[in-house]
Amino acid sequence: MDLDQTLKELAGLTVYPRSVVQVDGTTYFLARGDEASRRVLGVLGDTSGFEGARHESATGGDGGPLLCPLTPGNAAVLRGRLRWLRPVPLGLKTSAGFGDRLGLATPGHVWAARQFSGIASIFAQQSVRENARTGRTPQGVVDDATWGIFQEGWREPWGADADHLKTPAAVDAFVAAGYTLYTIDPGDHVDNAAHTAPPAEVEAKAQTLPWDALEDTALDMERRYLGRSFDLGDTALTLDREPLWRAAAKYGRAIAHTVRMYRYLADRMGGNDFELEVSVDETETPTSPAEHLFIASELRRLGVRWASLAPRYVGRFEKGVDYIGDLIEFETELAKHAAIARALGPYKLSIHSGSDKFSIYPIIARLTHGLVHLKTAGTSYLEALRAISQADPGLFRQILGFARERYDGDRATYHVSAQLANVPVPDGLRDEALPGLLEQFDARQVLHVTFGSVLDRFGGRLLATLEKHEEVYYSLLESHFERHLSPFIA
Ligand code: ZN
Repeated sequence: MDLDQTLKELAGLTVYPRSVVQVDGTTYFLARGDEASRRVLGVLGDTSGFEGARHESATGGDGGPLLCPLTPGNAAVLRGRLRWLRPVPLGLKTSAGFGDRLGLATPGHVWAARQFSGIASIFAQQSVRENARTGRTPQGVVDDATWGIFQEGWREPWGADADHLKTPAAVDAFVAAGYTLYTIDPGDHVDNAAHTAPPAEVEAKAQTLPWDALEDTALDMERRYLGRSFDLGDTALTLDREPLWRAAAKYGRAIAHTVRMYRYLADRMGGNDFELEVSVDETETPTSPAEHLFIASELRRLGVRWASLAPRYVGRFEKGVDYIGDLIEFETELAKHAAIARALGPYKLSIHSGSDKFSIYPIIARLTHGLVHLKTAGTSYLEALRAISQADPGLFRQILGFARERYDGDRATYHVSAQLANVPVPDGLRDEALPGLLEQFDARQVLHVTFGSVLDRFGGRLLATLEKHEEVYYSLLESHFERHLSPFIA
């Protein structure tokens, strides 16, 4: 019997058409139940290694496919069979990170990514902090991305980003899960006080740096920088004594920590290929171009190799909303950061909290010449809530009411400035007004940072509603990310 016919006659199941693939005589597909919304993997042919139950197909008899739950074990076997389901390093191609806190967004991300062949995709991306808040694991995040990619028949290279790794101990679980991009965040070791401290204090701070770990002395450091002009193409940069010592005092310990993390990671990866990102974006004070130059040249001297770097840019990169700051100042600074990234790499500039920054995308696209990584995460959760606001207004009202209660407690570790007083109490709003809250600054941030609490309370209903209305969710994601990615296409 022909395959199309077999798949059509799987009673109670609807096959995702793009998922169907035949390799070495075995057919694989993803399907969802008509009643129960849970998805299943179907395997017809060589089923060794998969765990599931035979489908009682009307005409297939014993020949029906094995239907397998979406377990970690089945995901691993499937990745072993279909090589395009394994994440890979993406090199210097313009890229976008699609963090997905709920584990259901990848098909929507694929819908968007499909339209932008010039942009490489990171479909699995979650930080240690977000894993803790969502109760997910590094492996679970990769598996959810795997199923989404498989569902939509994505065959292009994609990456997996272990985001904001702060300690060596955090690295292992991501290595075991096959991540390809490791974002090292030495932010806890940045001395923000050195940003404004008087020169004598800065010098005292620098004297106490871990010079052994830095394989350096203060004198050698001065010899490498003072009186030297760093060619950045159109322009050049010099470091005088004071800014040099300030850069060292501020970032010296962070550099030492990054080196420690990098060497640990390289050792754990064995011979396997991986990429590194260095991020200091979550620190209080901006990274000046001179400091960026210092960080990059010191990391190079110490043998660290990286694909992307996230300075802390000027202005405010708050969660889920547009850039807040002076666009001219941002542009002037970014031009220098981009020149440094070209001259000392080349490597990509990474834009963290990169979603919804529509006013600066054209500037970034123009100045980086494509050497850029746009990292997003919570914005896909907000699109999920937008879908809920349309599909189940009652649930959305409960979530909003609860988020209002939780905001003051949950906002602590995030860069947000929303005022609760500006977020309407849900009871007074008509159903038609609810989706509009996803356009409102304060409501976006309040909903954005309370995701952990909301998932604890409403996770089951939220996921079930999204699964039931998955096409609504995917379409919202698709158009949302079209807006994000189109400015980066030349
Ligand atoms: Zn970040």
